[in-house]
Amino acid sequence: MKFSWLKFARLFQKMKVTEHIKESKGSLVSFEILPPLKGKGIDAIYNHLNPLMEYKPAFINVTYHRSESMFKKKPDGTFEKVDVRKRPGTVGICAAIKSYYQVDTVAHLICGGFSRQETEDALIDLNFLGIDNVLVLRGDAPKNESTFEPEPGGNRYAIDLLNQVMDMNHGIYLEEDLKNVVKTDFCIGVAGYPEKHFECPNMATDILHLKEKVDAGAEYITTQMFFDNACYFEFVKLCRNAGITVPIIPGLKPITSKKQMTIIPRTFHVDIPTELSNEVLKCKNDEDVEKVGTEWLIEQSRNLQQKGVPGLHYYTLGKPHVICNTMKAIL
Ligand code: FAD
Repeated sequence: MKFSWLKFARLFQKMKVTEHIKESKGSLVSFEILPPLKGKGIDAIYNHLNPLMEYKPAFINVTYHRSESMFKKKPDGTFEKVDVRKRPGTVGICAAIKSYYQVDTVAHLICGGFSRQETEDALIDLNFLGIDNVLVLRGDAPKNESTFEPEPGGNRYAIDLLNQVMDMNHGIYLEEDLKNVVKTDFCIGVAGYPEKHFECPNMATDILHLKEKVDAGAEYITTQMFFDNACYFEFVKLCRNAGITVPIIPGLKPITSKKQMTIIPRTFHVDIPTELSNEVLKCKNDEDVEKVGTEWLIEQSRNLQQKGVPGLHYYTLGKPHVICNTMKAIL
């Protein structure tokens, strides 16, 4: 195998998301993936990412998942409630991707389903592995529960989790009497919602809570997906008016099936513009929907690039070839 100095140098690359944004001068793309279902190997991730890596993402985000309660049938015919974490492995996957592709990774961390002690352990693992980018989130209520409740000893809001990470950056661990501790150096991102978080009574209050996260130490914002760029630009304007000055990275997802016309608004609480939904509903099959969705994503991406956004973040779930076709068109 031919020795490459570039590859050798990149082995030691360790940059923060904010440094990537500064260095990219507007051409940054990043991808987000989910850990595979429990029992599947890391190859599922490599197969998903291999075609995408050609487009040189600045970093790869890996989502974090809580346990879900399920009813399991026992041999005597009765059911017992069991907690199953279907997608574990975020920290390990971040480390595996970083070493396999020499690319920076961003580990998502959530409040829901985890105690502060468990979160601290995950942060210590990330620190040992040289992964110092985290996106801190609250998480949602489990599927069978209507409202979010933190774990006993867990964080309630993303800002509480953010404060825990900031504490570690200042050398404050949960055991206060630890001596000569290492200060971590996490670059922290948070989520923003161009169409408002679904639980918040109004946009002004939601932005107030976002500002609190930034004031507490968040260095950038990644947005929920949106399909109308006007929502993103209006959101950025409201954030700037509220004194939020950090980069706001737009999050983008392709439409690839008719089912998504109802699933996406229900799951993510975002609108599909009439022009897009009309085109999708005219399609004969999902192959045609994918073409419409790809064209829409390309247009959205080009328009955002022209307006000088700090980067483009793609939710790649299940459809890497759609993202590849979009990359071919815009890069
Ligand atoms: P928060 O910032 O805690 O806000 C939640 C709600 O509480 C909002 O309505 C907010 O206005 C309100 N609020 C905030 N602070 C306060 C306060 N101090 N007092 C009163 N109200 C307050 N989920 C996962 O499970 N895993 C993931 O990996 C994941 N990744 C995501 C990535 C991105 C880019 C985005 C946009 C979302 C992601 N989610 C993920 C989903 C996210 O967990 C949910 O949207 C969740 O409902 C809210 O998370 P948050 O961090 O925005 O919460």
